[in-house]
Amino acid sequence: MDNNIHKEHAIGKFGIDRRTFVQSAVAGALAPALKGQAAKPAPKKMVGIQIDISVLATPDHEKVLDLLQEKACVNTLFVKTMVYPGRAGQSRFHGGNSTVMHAQYYKDTVLKPADVQSPKVTQLDAFARLIPAARKRDMRVFPWVSETHSTSDHASNPIDDQLWERDLYGRVAGDHPAGPCSNNPNYRNFVLGLFEDYARSYQIDGVLWGIERQGPLSNALGAFHDGSHVDPGRVTCFCEFCTRRGKQQGLDVERVKAGFRDLEKYVKAGRAGQRPADGYYVEFWRILLRNPEILAWHKLWTVSAHEIHQGIHAKMKSINPSLQAGWHIWHNISFNPLFRAEEDYQAMANYSDYIKPVLYYNSAGARMKSYIDGMSQNVYGDLSKEQSLEFEYRVMNYKEGQYGEIASTGFTADYVYRETKRALEDVAGTKTEIWPGIDIDVPTPGGKSKSTPENVRAAVIGAMRAGAQGVLLSRTYTEMKIENLAGAGNAMRELGLV
Ligand SMILES: [Zn+2]
Repeated sequence: MDNNIHKEHAIGKFGIDRRTFVQSAVAGALAPALKGQAAKPAPKKMVGIQIDISVLATPDHEKVLDLLQEKACVNTLFVKTMVYPGRAGQSRFHGGNSTVMHAQYYKDTVLKPADVQSPKVTQLDAFARLIPAARKRDMRVFPWVSETHSTSDHASNPIDDQLWERDLYGRVAGDHPAGPCSNNPNYRNFVLGLFEDYARSYQIDGVLWGIERQGPLSNALGAFHDGSHVDPGRVTCFCEFCTRRGKQQGLDVERVKAGFRDLEKYVKAGRAGQRPADGYYVEFWRILLRNPEILAWHKLWTVSAHEIHQGIHAKMKSINPSLQAGWHIWHNISFNPLFRAEEDYQAMANYSDYIKPVLYYNSAGARMKSYIDGMSQNVYGDLSKEQSLEFEYRVMNYKEGQYGEIASTGFTADYVYRETKRALEDVAGTKTEIWPGIDIDVPTPGGKSKSTPENVRAAVIGAMRAGAQGVLLSRTYTEMKIENLAGAGNAMRELGLV
């Protein structure tokens, strides 16, 4: 697109081309909203991109902003201000934050600016430099923090050991989507302090926070993509803070542990091909009936994680009500029905200015296949993989490809459309906006399924046709090929929405 044309769009935010609009594929879907108010154009949509701060710390950072505007119509930057380097022997947080940190926000935590602030910031505060450059281009800026989780490579160190979850046998958590405990005041206070620091120290427009973890019932079953090898004995959290909280709720923590040991045996036997006498599905329900504490402990985990979201939202509103606080919702919401049930957008609307459901259409194929492989070891063990997938498609409301092909083809724009529509229906009547995360060049196993300009374009159109108020191009700019990024811009221009 011609830069001058783009500037006109940017200045006259609502100056859409009527003819293009009417001719567009979405005209039918959007027309009722505009009926009788022809003079009032459609609102400008949020077009965001996730981007590493390292890109913005280069001398070419303004050229990157121009490129993003020109190619993809980007008007909002989600800057990854916090990473988790996790070098051997160091805290996962060590040197991970790339903004200037102020000690007054970290009084009630062991994580201190001296350890967490990246040493590079003292030479160049790239985040501060970015904000006027973005403003000049009518772009908004959000810090983006996607919380760490540990895998088996997580090395123990004194600071993290104070924050990290504890597993069923009291060990520091690892080898699972485990991480710092949401009930640990050192961690909770750090996160809230970090977001307060962002909001008070920089002229930001909002924040994005994400947790790619879930509670112990789903983790025991391996109910997530790449979950088929995790150790069901490493479920979390059984730390002193969770134990205390559980007891306050009247839970018998020893009974909880006995329940998870029961589940551990079931999952391990399933992986060894030992079918329960009454079948995998019945045995699963029997374990839950025998140990209802499993579900209570799982819920405690989820409630605690959601409290961090609520805390961030309340903090932002107390600082400046116009700051938008929203959430990256882990891709597992597309695979695991239990995770979908607990990540309830309707309930979440009470503390969300926007929600970014991860709708990574291209990676979804391989990830769904991986999910089915994991669940076929236990709860779905009596079904063929094709039958398990068909069950998933029915209960999750998808129409996608066969088990044997989805890892190569990915999911389609129809998946983006359906999931966006579902989210919008859930938050109907609230002010919460839905900004689906669209993947561009997120790696897939063996690189079998790939982003193309056409499938990116189709995915963005799918989100818009469903009525999304924005899209968030993901996972991060440095992964993306420019021609595929341009597919998003093409969609927005074609629809006359920028
Ligand atoms: Zn805990």
